[in-house]
Amino acid sequence: MEDEIEKLKKENELLKKINENKSDTISITAHQLRTSLSVLKWIFRMFISEDVGKLTNKQNELAQKAYTSSERMLALVNDLLTLSYTEDASISYNLEKIDILHLVEQTIFEFSEETNKKGINLTFLRPDTQTPMVNCDENMIRVVLQNLIENAIKYSNEGGQVFVSIKQKESDLQISVHDSGIGIKDEDKNSIFKKFFRAENALEKDNIGSGLGLFTTKSIIEKHNGRIWFENTPEDGTTFLFSLPIY
Ligand code: ADP
Repeated sequence: MEDEIEKLKKENELLKKINENKSDTISITAHQLRTSLSVLKWIFRMFISEDVGKLTNKQNELAQKAYTSSERMLALVNDLLTLSYTEDASISYNLEKIDILHLVEQTIFEFSEETNKKGINLTFLRPDTQTPMVNCDENMIRVVLQNLIENAIKYSNEGGQVFVSIKQKESDLQISVHDSGIGIKDEDKNSIFKKFFRAENALEKDNIGSGLGLFTTKSIIEKHNGRIWFENTPEDGTTFLFSLPIY
């Protein structure tokens, strides 16, 4: 019996090692890809803005296509990197008491350029009462907010409205991101948090996306012992909500 246990322990250690090596390989490759793709994107941008000389219409059209393609690949690589980080069992979260209000404000500010470009009104409905601090990994919760706000903007029409709000619900803090966008169809409801899933209406709306954002977001929230879900208002967009326990 003891021999068996010893054997299983050894096998377990070996599997852990293999898994760690796999995560390292993904992360090193993704970092290298990201650097090269950023350079490509920057070069295509220079062509499009004719910083390196005048282009014919055809050349400009091709440079635009190459730019969009490099942008799409870069988004995929970034999502893969975050995913491999969240799935890496050897990385433990750096939990500390944070002021989530401040984090929401910072994140909203980062989207100013995007919302201006799309004419979207992104508003933070600040709570009237004091919000308790929550125990979480600030960088990881920033990723969650970025993913949800990015989607709310991406899947909204020009001139749309996005509201972020926070409220305390018993021993949880509940954060919601509401948009007036394309909504989620009934037939897609059970697939939204699955790896690589992208709904038909999302593909039509924006062809840049990996289908990894919500999967990663859910796994981050669950690692904080929280919950994430969405409510769909027909004709009136979607609200994604997540709750974090207040310890
Ligand atoms: P991506 O946005 O890269 O496609 P995500 O994992 O972030 O991937 O989202 C998965 C899918 O969930 C999207 O492709 C889309 O179909 C749907 N989705 C996410 N957020 C929204 C939203 N705010 N409104 C409508 N659909 C959404």
